[in-house]
Amino acid sequence: MFKPILEKLGKEVSGDIAFNFVSEISRHHRIQASPGLRAAVNYAVETLKGYGLDARVHEYPADGESYCWSSLQFKEWSCRDAELRLIEPAEEARPLARWSESKFSLIQRSHPTPGGCCEVEVVVLDKGEEDADYKRVDVEGKVVLTNGDLNRVYEMAVERRGALGIIFDGTWVRPPALLEGELDDALRYTSFWWAGDEKPCFGFVLTPRTGRWLRELVKKQRGKPVKVWAKVDSQIYSGSIENAVATIPGETNEEVVVVAHICHPQPSANDNASGSAAAMEAARALWKLIAQGVLPKPRRTIRFTLVPEMAGTYAHLAENEERISKMVAAINLDMVGEKQDVCGGPLIVERTPEATPSFVNALMEVIFDEVKAEVGNLGGSAKYALFKHAVTPFSGGSDHYIYSDPTVGVPSPMLIQWPDKFWHTSYDTLDKVDPEMLGKVALMTGTYAYFIANAGPKEAIWLASEVAARQKRDLVMEVQAQVTAALSAAVEGEDPGKKLAEAISKLRKRISYRLSRSVEAVRSVRRLADEDPRYGAVEERLISELEAAGKTERKLAEKAITDYAEARGLAPLPRVRKGRLKKLERKASGIVPRRLFRGPVSVRPWVRKLSREDRDAWWRLGKEHREDQILGTLAMYWADGERSLLEVSRLVELEAGRTDLEYLVSYFGLLRKMGLVDFA
Ligand SMILES: [Zn+2]
Repeated sequence: MFKPILEKLGKEVSGDIAFNFVSEISRHHRIQASPGLRAAVNYAVETLKGYGLDARVHEYPADGESYCWSSLQFKEWSCRDAELRLIEPAEEARPLARWSESKFSLIQRSHPTPGGCCEVEVVVLDKGEEDADYKRVDVEGKVVLTNGDLNRVYEMAVERRGALGIIFDGTWVRPPALLEGELDDALRYTSFWWAGDEKPCFGFVLTPRTGRWLRELVKKQRGKPVKVWAKVDSQIYSGSIENAVATIPGETNEEVVVVAHICHPQPSANDNASGSAAAMEAARALWKLIAQGVLPKPRRTIRFTLVPEMAGTYAHLAENEERISKMVAAINLDMVGEKQDVCGGPLIVERTPEATPSFVNALMEVIFDEVKAEVGNLGGSAKYALFKHAVTPFSGGSDHYIYSDPTVGVPSPMLIQWPDKFWHTSYDTLDKVDPEMLGKVALMTGTYAYFIANAGPKEAIWLASEVAARQKRDLVMEVQAQVTAALSAAVEGEDPGKKLAEAISKLRKRISYRLSRSVEAVRSVRRLADEDPRYGAVEERLISELEAAGKTERKLAEKAITDYAEARGLAPLPRVRKGRLKKLERKASGIVPRRLFRGPVSVRPWVRKLSREDRDAWWRLGKEHREDQILGTLAMYWADGERSLLEVSRLVELEAGRTDLEYLVSYFGLLRKMGLVDFA
């Protein structure tokens, strides 16, 4: 089925060619809506044209006024030069940040310094996120040194208290991939994201080491001013933002989309020159094989889009709204070039969210299995991978989260390497890119896209059975994991009988949820089958098999639990009573969120419509629930205008294994105040 494609493509795809693309793209400073982004997009288009592909630049207004769905178009930004120099105390004078050394040394989208350049005092903030941080410091007319949340510090220090600019020296730790001090000399990617009505402000970025030194110096001066000279020669104006779109034409009006973001500061080699390069290489290799007649012209079009992350996808989809229902599937490539031993993370297939069940996951996973079969054991009885790899549930954070949103409905897995120690820092450089990884990803991408583009009833019959088999395997393993968890929980502590009884009722809910997702995933294949009459019978058989398997698994699991209960002398198990709804649950059951925009909400400009109190509440909610953002995303996907927030929250729990109703009630409440959702 897909194997002949994989084999043919495997002979043409070159990780080294993809590496050269990375090298070229990473020369450009690719801030969304900037001359550097335009140059990178032009490079990609000209290069693909050179290989004979139909490639074009698509231009959109970058005016700070137009919206694509809920997403506000940035204004264009360009910067000629920027520098921050310490000038007082004179004996310590030195350059602190220079644009010509690293583009990361500036907070992106900085406004020009007032009067061309300025001398200004530095004030050290604790974090600068709370009112209390400003009790004993006057920041008006000064620059603040902070490692707090940039947006928040901007609002607190600049907008509310009149600071002129920000110096940022923040870093992360993400053990075990990134330990304390490992990035002491790296600059972190930092940007203002203007909504348009803010007070202008400039800002610089220091390495954590330089930041520490400057903080020490301010302390040593004991109140004597520490001053810097700052110059930012930049412009923010109405301009344009571009996507590169290359097309392998098919014969029907349906299409498969390959997306990668081409933006980010120079060099940002892995994030995401690598994804753009892998997409380009998949396009080049496929086109060549089609032109040579090695692969037939596909039935459906394959469209490659290299875009400024999110903004470019919103623009592309909003512009082609009538085509969306013809987009059969997508794939997103993000950070796919990592040298694994240096950067840390495995290559991951991230599945679609469960509100958008689809065949795409099984297809990408079976291709992945083939690519993983790299080397054999001594006896030759098994093959396996030499690289790190994983398959994970949906987590979002890149362009696939727009495609896979049920209001868009184009199922899109993502290939990504995560974690990456150097992500969003000046250390994300070309020497950390592995041509072999790029080659693997280009091969997987090309095989996936071409298989879907060319699939008909025959392929659908195979794919449906592959989907059903994988769903069944996942169901069996998950049910057994639940049994293990239930029995383990009942080993110690109080009320083991009650725990086991509850486990059975939970298990029933989970199995029926899983089955509904599995059945939908199998049904999604139908789209490829051209209404072939034989296919209907195949689908029916697979679905009834799945349902039968669900029943069998349920019985087996319940039996295992009750047998265990008997062996422990706990039988018969007590009946589980349905509890009464708690106050919050009653409230949530009366809220039916209705989405007002297609695609995920892009809250940036909308937050500014809130009152100061509500903005504070939004900030606090985000800070206290940093790990729960995914719950908000998933809840939006499940919110179909008919489900109550309580039902949505229960689905989120089934999908993510956890939920937080209090968070979701506050989250949707604030989105409603912003005008992004309504309550029916
Ligand atoms: Zn990124």
